[in-house]
Amino acid sequence: MPTPLSLHLGTLLKMVSVKTEIAQDTLLIGIGASPGIAIGQPFQVDRVRMVTVERRLAREEVAGEVDSFLEAVQLSKQQLEEVKAAVSDAEMAEHLYIIDTHLLILEDQMLVDDTVALVRDELINAEGALKRTLDKFRQVFDRIEDEYLRDRRTDIDSIGERLMRNLMGQTQQSLCDIDRKAIVVAHDLSPADTMQMNRDKIIGFVTDVGGRTSHTAILARSMGIPAVIGMETISTIVPRGTLMIIDGSSGMVILNPTEETLQAYQEKKAAYEKRQTEYLSFTDLLAETIDGHRVVLRGNVELADEVPLAQRYGAEGVGLFRSEFLFLNRPVPPSEEEQVQGYRAVVEAMAPHSVTIRTLDLGGDKFVPEINLADELNPAMGLRAVRFSLKERRLFKAQLRAILRASAFGQVRMMFPMISGIAEIRDCKAILAEAQKELTEEGAPFDAQMPIGIMIEIPSAAIVADMLASEVDFFSVGTNDLIQYLLAVDRGNEHVAYLYEPLHPAVLRALRSICQAARDAGIPVSMCGEMAADPFYSQVLLGLGFNELSMNPPDVPRVKQILRQTTCQQAELLLEKLLLLKTASEVSRYLEREMASRFPDIFGTPFS
Ligand code: PEP
Ligand code: MG
Repeated sequence: MPTPLSLHLGTLLKMVSVKTEIAQDTLLIGIGASPGIAIGQPFQVDRVRMVTVERRLAREEVAGEVDSFLEAVQLSKQQLEEVKAAVSDAEMAEHLYIIDTHLLILEDQMLVDDTVALVRDELINAEGALKRTLDKFRQVFDRIEDEYLRDRRTDIDSIGERLMRNLMGQTQQSLCDIDRKAIVVAHDLSPADTMQMNRDKIIGFVTDVGGRTSHTAILARSMGIPAVIGMETISTIVPRGTLMIIDGSSGMVILNPTEETLQAYQEKKAAYEKRQTEYLSFTDLLAETIDGHRVVLRGNVELADEVPLAQRYGAEGVGLFRSEFLFLNRPVPPSEEEQVQGYRAVVEAMAPHSVTIRTLDLGGDKFVPEINLADELNPAMGLRAVRFSLKERRLFKAQLRAILRASAFGQVRMMFPMISGIAEIRDCKAILAEAQKELTEEGAPFDAQMPIGIMIEIPSAAIVADMLASEVDFFSVGTNDLIQYLLAVDRGNEHVAYLYEPLHPAVLRALRSICQAARDAGIPVSMCGEMAADPFYSQVLLGLGFNELSMNPPDVPRVKQILRQTTCQQAELLLEKLLLLKTASEVSRYLEREMASRFPDIFGTPFS
């Protein structure tokens, strides 16, 4: 008998997981990839990496090995075509491109030719040759700095695994086989696995690996399946039959919950689902007050993949596309062409609604070391956003050209961040005019009427909003920064977070004068800071006269719900009262009482 110490760690883990009852309320933390709560038993999916053996071939074995490999490629293609054909759901159909990507990888000459060459020239068996080729692919992906592109390595992993299984004659466990409601627990899941998930049976999933931008995570969000990923070892430690709770919003997984925890989560789940159903029933309803006043609710989006989510929650376009996300974590900035493709994807997906593309807002808390932003003592007040663009004119003009070119494919609005006054907007417009002239000379199509707007997020811009209004087609208020600069409170510093008060009388007055300036000039005014997403403030923003609000897509229905139960007159009266109060806490208390009495289900019982 081996002593426990001499046991292999894996065996030990298995013994612990099989024989030992897992402690009650065992809490594990991962990455919340898709919100929602699932309570159930695990269904372990065996996606453990296969053990491949490399061996040297005799000359006469070569032809047979090459044939086996090419057959495995064919079989893998056939299987993926079958997954494609079986997807009937219109919502999922838009994700078929992922399967197409996998099919393309199978057609990649490097993958096929390199493997065959290793078999033929180096006399390596097909398994070993395929492993070497896949390792080479993975190394290339691992060197990519861009998180989104690096996450595409999972596509190589999943197609590599399928190919290897087919080559080794192993059948792949299919998620279609699950015959009871369960939470899938796996080391990893491929997008093809996720697409096959039957939403009646698979109530959630947890995986050891994965990033928020992996295709699997994106699919989970768009399918509305709660998921927690990046849990490192969960696939090895959940015993069969364990009751588990997963909370895809917080990224928490609780194993073997006590009665008390279970009940608390059952209530949380019921409340979440009730809210979701109520919210989705708002999707097709207009964001309109009882007295017929329309407010356009749009989504804040960083990547094209988020557009389906925005549509699902009823966003009427993208009110803030943070273009800097195309520039982050990569060695060199994207070319003009690459940017056109990135913007065009969002614009076409969002049609017929408009997409407001904000030009680069680098700097502040968004660093791109590769773009040589100097170390600054006070980056929030330093060379960021449009100040940086106006210094790096070539980069800026390439972006303006790309946005203009994307405007040929749908409704595009362009917006400049961190404008502090008239001089800056005129400078921006001068470079825009050069870009338009160049494109006209080149015969490249663009929308010559594309609306041009600015973010109002610096106090000086708020103060001269009346002057700025005559220079632009719309305003969008960035409260995240406006509050930070108005109150001199670093938005990322937890020590002064208590001073970050959206209801500070100075903030309310600034918002009122911005809205007044827009109204006087007859231009629309939007808000795209986080304040727009919190339904607690919706009546205040309506009272102030915002025509548009842009927010994270899942917040759209919550805000719509409040607007639909309010009249403009109520909101204006409320605002008048709030504007008379002298401190942020007085304003806040007044609003809490008001919201709790008008919306007791949402904001609780009235405060004393
Ligand atoms: C804002 O400042 O409110 C805003 C929307 O921009 P960001 O959060 O990207 O600075
Ligand atoms: Mg900002």
